[in-house]
Amino acid sequence: MGGKDGSSAQMFPSVWRGDFRSKAEFDATAGHRAAAFEVFDWLDDRVLFSRHPFTYKAYCAACDAVSAMRVGWEFGGAGARGSVHPAWTETVACGTCHLNSRMRALIDFLKTRTDLSAVSRAYAAEQTTPSFRVLQRLLPSLAGSEYLGPQFKSGETRLHARNALNVQRVRHEDLTALSYADAAFELAITQDVFEHVPDYRKAFAELARVLTPDGRLVFTIPFFSDLAATRVRAKVGPEGVTHLLPAEIHGNPVSSEGSLCFQNFGWDILDDLRSSGFADAFGSLYWGPWQGHMGFPFFVFCASKGAC
Ligand SMILES: [Zn+2]
Repeated sequence: MGGKDGSSAQMFPSVWRGDFRSKAEFDATAGHRAAAFEVFDWLDDRVLFSRHPFTYKAYCAACDAVSAMRVGWEFGGAGARGSVHPAWTETVACGTCHLNSRMRALIDFLKTRTDLSAVSRAYAAEQTTPSFRVLQRLLPSLAGSEYLGPQFKSGETRLHARNALNVQRVRHEDLTALSYADAAFELAITQDVFEHVPDYRKAFAELARVLTPDGRLVFTIPFFSDLAATRVRAKVGPEGVTHLLPAEIHGNPVSSEGSLCFQNFGWDILDDLRSSGFADAFGSLYWGPWQGHMGFPFFVFCASKGAC
């Protein structure tokens, strides 16, 4: 382990992490994971017994400090076999930076697995979020955008009011038709965006286009590690949206109506990335209560145009 930025993360235990380039690689570790899951399950049972929000102290990679992490049930629900648990990636929010488990994991990945000092131009497919402001502190050159609707052209800006006191000029970008030049960025970041893009393969190709020859895409998605093939929930055609499965709506920072989830990603997303202009792609597993990653292990993904 050890942060390339020299952060004090080196002083803390590492998260439990493993890189996987295919379902076969992941499945080959099933025995080890089953043993680890016994530990997680026991811990979860104790932690969740009260079914009330609570805080505990853990190391936050974004703040580079120990802070109070709040575990809440806001996004939770009944899971498999009737268990009731929080949506783990969406909670364990740091009391200082307010970033949840998956957002802090992405920042840990950037700090420990990429050389941020070599990044002079970076892009994030978000602009109005608390995590954008934290990312901007790490990457001063960071450009951001939101998807404002089909009536806008990529590159257009609009005033967006979160409330009467908070009005911001926001850039619109459609990930499947970016306005940026080829090789404009060394690093691109998206957080839980691709599941809302019906033609996500086109978005991968567009992001590959705007990245430099050794550029990287680092992202999170709701990921289903038991699925070999991505499960399509809804499609867009000439007649509009066709639902193949019940509609699943996620929160959207620029729309109170939320965003439709078009697909639940499985392992073939790595093949799609490799056939969209990226030389390498992998999912990096995260778990570690001491860094505020509780519950089920989840993944930060990295696709690289050069060698990872
Ligand atoms: Zn924090």
